[in-house]
Amino acid sequence: MDNAKLIVISGPSGVGKSTLLKQLFTSYPEKFGFSVSYTSRNPRNNEVDGVDYHFVTSDVFTGMISQNLFVEWALVHGNYYGTAKDEVSKVIDNGKYCVLDIDVQGAMLVKESGVSARYIFIAPESIDVLFRRLSSRGTETSESIQKRLKNAEKELTYKEKYDYIIINDTLDVAYKKLVSCIF
Ligand code: 5GP
Repeated sequence: MDNAKLIVISGPSGVGKSTLLKQLFTSYPEKFGFSVSYTSRNPRNNEVDGVDYHFVTSDVFTGMISQNLFVEWALVHGNYYGTAKDEVSKVIDNGKYCVLDIDVQGAMLVKESGVSARYIFIAPESIDVLFRRLSSRGTETSESIQKRLKNAEKELTYKEKYDYIIINDTLDVAYKKLVSCIF
């Protein structure tokens, strides 16, 4: 596995990471592959198992932890999330850059393991803008929004540990910056 081909992306929930990444994968399908994470959270209405995440029970997830199947895993907003070693190998063995969309805890674990990767943090213009985004997305309860905002404040304190920080105020500008961080 060639770790130089890992791209780690973090940023608060609702900041627009998925939109930016979808644009990247659509523009360069031959260059990038996405490591589909495992999670114990329930799927949202528009999410597809095996595409957005591998949705599993907490028992299955903790079983995978015991079998040492993850590159990293973390508890985020009360649910398990993890990157499976198999998923990363599948992408890299295909000769593509492997993109991990993971939280700051997971990103720091990857970094501490000494793996060579490019670390990119996507930040919101402000917490207020993030609140409006999460509310208008309509996928979260108000309790979940509050949890995500609280976590966002914590996550933002890690941004200086990344190689690049991109503020997603305007999608087109942020996308261009993302591409320039990679190529
Ligand atoms: P969401 O529930 O909004 O899809 O994701 C919540 C958070 O979990 C996001 O910050 C996302 O980047 C993070 N996340 C998704 N997959 C993984 C993973 O495999 N590992 C870790 N550590 N975080 C993940």
